[in-house]
Amino acid sequence: MLLSSLDGAVNPSGTERSRLDALLEAVPLALSVFDGTLALVATNARYRDLTGLDASQAIGRSIYDSFPNALADLTEQVDIAAGGAPVVSVRVPFQHRGGRRLVEATFVPLIDTHGARGVLFAGSDVTEREELREDLARSVAQLESIFDVLPDSVRVVDADGGTVRTNAQAQLEHAQAKPQSLRELWQLDRPRTLNGTTLFVHEHPTARALRGERVRGEILEVRRGTSGTPAVIEVNSNPLYDPHRRVRGAVTVERDVTERTRLEQQVRTEADRLERMVQERTSELLALQEAASRDRRLAAVGQLAAGVMHDVNNALNPIMAAAYLLEMNAENPVAVRDYAVRIARAAETGAATAARVGRFIRQEPLLGSREEAVNLNVMVEEVVAMTRPLWRERAKGGVVILEQSLAPGAIIRGIAGEIREALLNLVQNALDAMAGGGTLRIRTTVDAEETSVAVSDTGTGMSEEVRERAFEPFFTTKGVSGTGLGLAEVYGIARRHRGRAEIESAAGAGTTVRLAFPLGNFTAGPVAEPELRPRQRRRILLVEDHHDSREFMQALLESDGHTVLAVRNVEEARERLRDDSFGLDVLVTDIGLPDGSGWDLVSYARELRPALRIGVVTGWEPRNEQDPACDFTLRKPVGAADLLAQIAGYV
Ligand code: ADP
Ligand code: MG
Repeated sequence: MLLSSLDGAVNPSGTERSRLDALLEAVPLALSVFDGTLALVATNARYRDLTGLDASQAIGRSIYDSFPNALADLTEQVDIAAGGAPVVSVRVPFQHRGGRRLVEATFVPLIDTHGARGVLFAGSDVTEREELREDLARSVAQLESIFDVLPDSVRVVDADGGTVRTNAQAQLEHAQAKPQSLRELWQLDRPRTLNGTTLFVHEHPTARALRGERVRGEILEVRRGTSGTPAVIEVNSNPLYDPHRRVRGAVTVERDVTERTRLEQQVRTEADRLERMVQERTSELLALQEAASRDRRLAAVGQLAAGVMHDVNNALNPIMAAAYLLEMNAENPVAVRDYAVRIARAAETGAATAARVGRFIRQEPLLGSREEAVNLNVMVEEVVAMTRPLWRERAKGGVVILEQSLAPGAIIRGIAGEIREALLNLVQNALDAMAGGGTLRIRTTVDAEETSVAVSDTGTGMSEEVRERAFEPFFTTKGVSGTGLGLAEVYGIARRHRGRAEIESAAGAGTTVRLAFPLGNFTAGPVAEPELRPRQRRRILLVEDHHDSREFMQALLESDGHTVLAVRNVEEARERLRDDSFGLDVLVTDIGLPDGSGWDLVSYARELRPALRIGVVTGWEPRNEQDPACDFTLRKPVGAADLLAQIAGYV
């Protein structure tokens, strides 16, 4: 049909002409028809647009002149077509008013039934198509270079695992072997998991992707290079689908993470090292802290040593002076006696300090044997009875009111003498703080956890600093009249009894010192309130020149129900001994007395009254502790319990 239409195209009749024109316009190509003389006889709008010729210029134009804007010579193609041979298309650029166009030009010979020759030109604008093709080629080239530049190895396989494509890195990894299939690759790589399990070929990530799985971040160990050096790789693999969602192949990307794995290992090792370092530093720090607390301990010990030295010097100075004078006046018996007494007194003072410091120092808990059930209520009663005669004087003449609240069953395990000593110190401090009078409150309590005794006063109270330091041995705010040993003793005694001592105080607001003993302190089974010892009321002659000691011992003995006759020197004592009316049971005498030695008095008494129970109280080295003349010897400072026990004749 087209051919028959073109048959008439060279010499068309009127109807044929219009049919031909319609046909030419309908074809989406630039078309023109040349007759046997190669003159232009028909054109379409696309041809005219391409060549820039209008209809009037076009008709009758020679074929050689009919492509004025073609940028290449078309003579050869025209001649071939005119000669009757079929022509291959040629690509020719045209200078079009809208810019350069690339046209695929085809010249076809036309021979009609009458033998008339002509030529048909068909021009197809391929500019866009060519641009697209070039773009595509460029993109592919770019993709390929990206593909090759990737540091990861990329392999594309077909559905059977045959290698389709590999990038430069993949080729590099198997430069010699060039595996052509997944199986060959698997044989070379011998992949294993990090914990050493060898993978079968069907377990390879690529094989899994070929079964439709997306494999992500699989870490495997493989052998690489001719030497089979192990390498660690991270593998990702994806199936590739055709438009019908059938798996056509797979793409597998492998990244060498040997170095990363090594670094991770290193980081772990480093982390371990850091942790060890932190531990070492921590223990160093602990050691430093220990050193710091040792420094504090040493400072406290230093203070203790300084205090002891001070007191020892105070004791030694008069002893040395007296010793010197003793030597000088050896012939004068009165002077000798006087110096001996002074020496004894000074030594006693030193011994007393030593004993008190000792009670602070020995903080380690008591161990059983010497312990007994101690009723705190009884202790309180005793201390009150012992000290009451001195309250007024101690409180500088003020009236002291006692408030006592004693909980039944306040029993602990311990040493009565020490507990009594602690309470004595607390009561003394309370009285000292209440110059001018006040209220002395003593309470014992028992609860589920502890048994306690608290001594409160309404006195001056303590500043923050004093409260912090009050337990330190030799810390005192009382100048020469204080020793700074009272609370230190209290502290040591509380500790020895596995308890604690607490101060509650503020300047101007009075003070409470509380001794608390945990229930564990007393573990023996249910204890009946201890029977107060069967009081044998004794008649006692007490010989002591030191005022405070004498008052103290007298009060103590009287509180135990005894009758006491107290005198100050040998002479008075001898008088009392000679006087039968008093009915003496016991003699307790100090050794260093102003008008003679206690030992002389002991001999005198023993001779006069052989049945008398005789005891000496001394801080001075006794002549002979087993002196047959006396029944007991007590060292100063005298423990109240010891004294009472000796008087009763228990020991
Ligand atoms: P001393 O009584 O010989 O000074 P202590 O060890 O008994 O030594 O007491 C130390 C210090 O604690 C005292 O000097 C005083 O400042 C303070 N202190 C102790 N008890 C009381 C109290 N009840 N009220 C106020 N201050 C007190
Ligand atoms: Mg004190």
